[in-house]
Amino acid sequence: MSFKLADRSVIICGFGIIGITTSIRLLEAGLSVTAVASHLPGDPLSAYYASSAAGAHHLSFAADDDQRQQNLDRLTFDVMWAEEEAQGESSGLMRITQREFYGSEGEKHISFFESLPDFTVYHPKDLPAFVKHAVSFTSLTMDAPVYLQKLVARFQALGGTLHRAHLNSLVDALQFVSHVPSALVNCTGLGSLNLKGVQDLDLFPIRGQVVILRAPWIKEGRTKQVGKLDGGEGGERTYIIPRRSGEVVIGGTREIEDWTADPRADTALDIKRRALALFPELAPESACVDGRNPVPADL
Ligand SMILES: Cc1cc2nc3c(=O)[nH]c(=O)nc-3n(C[C@H](O)[C@H](O)[C@H](O)COP(=O)(O)OP(=O)(O)OC[C@H]3O[C@@H](n4cnc5c(N)ncnc54)[C@H](O)[C@@H]3O)c2cc1C
Repeated sequence: MSFKLADRSVIICGFGIIGITTSIRLLEAGLSVTAVASHLPGDPLSAYYASSAAGAHHLSFAADDDQRQQNLDRLTFDVMWAEEEAQGESSGLMRITQREFYGSEGEKHISFFESLPDFTVYHPKDLPAFVKHAVSFTSLTMDAPVYLQKLVARFQALGGTLHRAHLNSLVDALQFVSHVPSALVNCTGLGSLNLKGVQDLDLFPIRGQVVILRAPWIKEGRTKQVGKLDGGEGGERTYIIPRRSGEVVIGGTREIEDWTADPRADTALDIKRRALALFPELAPESACVDGRNPVPADL
């Protein structure tokens, strides 16, 4: 194969939220972009495609001494906030009140939350019995499938080229272009574990299972953290993520080195039990007549 050098073209490997967003930013900057990925928005669940499974809420885990991560999380928040303001319903985003509950003695919120709109610390006398500390602020949730489709439409409108292919090696991506690109950007997520040219052996899967409910009356996000957060992956975390569509994502799990994509029934039951304890209003009114306490089967 012969190549002609072109200095304004880029190959993006991977088409999850990171690959698509990177592609769009480069297209907007006037570069020509070719993306190559084995999984695309709308595909069935896979451990190699996290983006379609995400809840998703904007919730920073940046440590108080990690200014770089704080800056990244702030920039993401500002971009999502502006998108929601400009595009409303079609943005795939929703502004919500987010309540963060800490169930372990001594656990506190990260200082990043204090920079978000409407930040409030709850007075101990206002806390439910299972909570040691709580804060609230305004944040955003993303309807991941809707948001990804929106990005795909933007990618196409800007003239991006997309190929579905599994790459054994980063170099394999060159077969999809006729010129040597000025850059190749690796956005393959967990795929980088096996991809020749990267083979990042520090990577491992952390399985996350969720349940998706239809509960359009829920307009508030809640999270309960039990045990140390440890940068986002420690302790037990229960979350409620309402989407603009009226779906509510409840979760979650963090199962290290677990590649299983199919949901487990006992895990789903446990998620429903924890979510109801955190937010009993998830159950429809019809399940709570005459003071009846809702049970997981009501969800
Ligand atoms: C249940 C769950 C809930 C989550 N909730 C949230 C949340 O609330 N907020 C939040 O911010 N994040 C959340 N996340 C995390 C978030 O989903 C991920 O951080 C994000 O989606 C990673 O995106 P990515 O583009 O890097 O990778 P991915 O979405 O995994 O995309 C990887 C891409 O690379 C391609 N690829 C990989 N290997 C190859 C190969 N060899 N050849 C060709 N293509 C390849 C894949 O096909 C895919 O297109 C959640 C994740 C899960 C599982």
